[in-house]
Amino acid sequence: MSSKLRLAVLGSTGSIGTSTLDVAARHPERIEVRALSAHSRVDELVAQCIKWKPRHAVVTDASHASEVRRQLKEQGCPTQVLEGPQALCEVAADPEVDAVMAAVVGAAGLPSCLAAARTGKRLLLANKEALVVGGAVFMQAVRQGGATLIPIDSEHSAIFQCLPEDRSTWARRVDHIILTASGGPFRQRDPASLEAVTPDEACAHPTWVMGRKISVDSATMMNKALEVIEARWLFDLEPERIKAVIHPQSIVHSMVVCRDQSVLAQLGTPDMRVPIAYGLAWPERIESGASGLEWTSLKALTFEEADERRFPGLFLSWHALKGPLGSTAVLNAANEVAVERFLAGRIGFMDIYRLNARALEAIDPQLPISPAVDELIALDQRVRACVGQWADALTA
Ligand code: NDP
Ligand code: MG
Repeated sequence: MSSKLRLAVLGSTGSIGTSTLDVAARHPERIEVRALSAHSRVDELVAQCIKWKPRHAVVTDASHASEVRRQLKEQGCPTQVLEGPQALCEVAADPEVDAVMAAVVGAAGLPSCLAAARTGKRLLLANKEALVVGGAVFMQAVRQGGATLIPIDSEHSAIFQCLPEDRSTWARRVDHIILTASGGPFRQRDPASLEAVTPDEACAHPTWVMGRKISVDSATMMNKALEVIEARWLFDLEPERIKAVIHPQSIVHSMVVCRDQSVLAQLGTPDMRVPIAYGLAWPERIESGASGLEWTSLKALTFEEADERRFPGLFLSWHALKGPLGSTAVLNAANEVAVERFLAGRIGFMDIYRLNARALEAIDPQLPISPAVDELIALDQRVRACVGQWADALTA
């Protein structure tokens, strides 16, 4: 085995993908980039390939693959271009890859996450939707494949950093966990005015710079709803032992409340390179590129409850976790469709919540006890078709 960590960055052209490459560039002695992937942003992927010369580049939207090949050939870049969603699984399972950064957005990331888990990789999980959809099946693949699952989502990284390495001690140590949320751009908006907000307003996050889908999720607090579900699986906690609180400064990234009521928290500037560097180096620590906290200029660290009228989506997480198996996959698929329609200007901001709540209410998850990935994907597709029709009716 090479002494360097051989890394595949899935979703390398996105916000997490580019931050990952930024951290990797600071540590050429310990990280080698073996594979990159993009869906359709050709120029960004080509530029990354020229810089990193990975063995493989995956273009999941196959219609762009020949253009990537043409440009790389023109530049004399030796990277081999693979195409289609299946190629993501191939690079995730490649025996010459040690670690996979799962930074594709949405349930589209599930098959490659499972491939990395089953082949025992270090799996750096940013793609929370995969875990929300895959749930128990995902965690079983991690256990059976002997993978090392390290959360990249800042809240889950914070919890992970506060817990000891030995997972078997977690259940007896932890009373509950508290996920912090910034409250997004609409924390103080009059709930009645939320119907009319635009995609650009929803994407203008006050503390984090992120892709557009997760930015909308932060504005609705569906991001926190997905994170509650993510935490349920990552830390094996009952839903009632997971709480969420608004912390507008985004300095305390989350907290563990121990059995004795001692509270452990992880703090830092809001910069995703911190959890990424932690995941890449674990159990060591390496430089991330993030700036340090200016302690004396911190005016206050405040915490407030999420208002159900403004953020009704948040509360769907506990509802889905108590529902039949497959409910969280229903919620995720509905939300992906709704956010896509909202970003395209076809439905209103509060319609996102309405479609999500209706999907949970009306769609029977119908899954066997231990579903295969194809059955999860079939459910995901069924929900997308249904919610797509409901969304069409809203715009008709
Ligand atoms: P971006 O939208 O910035 O990037 C998404 C990446 O996935 C891009 O490389 C994109 O390619 C690729 N992609 C898009 N659609 C598909 C598809 N159907 N199949 C395969 N690849 C696809 O997202 P983010 O980086 O913001 O988020 C990535 C994941 O990380 C999400 O699950 C998000 O919830 C999670 N996360 C993000 C955080 C952040 O700070 N951004 C924080 C915590 C979690 P292309 O560029 O060609 O479109
Ligand atoms: Mg997060």
